[in-house]
Amino acid sequence: MKVEDLENGGAPLLGEALPIELANATYAVRGRLVDGLQTVEHVAAWFRDNGERFAEPCTDADLLEVGAGELHATRALRDAIRALAGVAVRGGEAPSDAVAEVNRRVRAAARWRELSWGERPSALARSATPPVTTALAEIAQQAVDLFTGDQAADLRACQAPGCVLYFVKNHPRREWCSAGCGTRARAARHYERTKAAGL
Ligand SMILES: [Zn+2]
Repeated sequence: MKVEDLENGGAPLLGEALPIELANATYAVRGRLVDGLQTVEHVAAWFRDNGERFAEPCTDADLLEVGAGELHATRALRDAIRALAGVAVRGGEAPSDAVAEVNRRVRAAARWRELSWGERPSALARSATPPVTTALAEIAQQAVDLFTGDQAADLRACQAPGCVLYFVKNHPRREWCSAGCGTRARAARHYERTKAAGL
């Protein structure tokens, strides 16, 4: 099995902040919720596809070692962030088990940056835990910063028909998670308008 051949679970790659990108691994196809992280292969493919965005990207060997533990941990963190994103957007009480899950993942990896000094100084990300555990800790840490920082006010649930994704509104005119959702939403509005006009 080669890493490039791993099949992903179809989760969209929108380039959102990593916690939101992970939350969006639950998506919808024609109004039906789809779990994009159903298997070990899906999880490994997700980390492959988002790999460059981590301080310490997982190697192919790391990804081929992803097992049931990583599958469970990734799904649990995804579900927790998704639940908290829903609360951040719609209000209500944050489920304490979701908060606990994020914090459990943050604490699961010891990470630090070492100094490397060749021609010029640079920082090397290091950790003492398996790479996927470290990557999950990085996502969880970013989730803490996202929910408590300035970006929290810009977190949105996409309002396009049938869409369940979240995005950070990084542009004043941005209304949708993706161009595809914008097109579908405009088509739906047009349909409602022509129907209302009896055309
Ligand atoms: Zn959308």
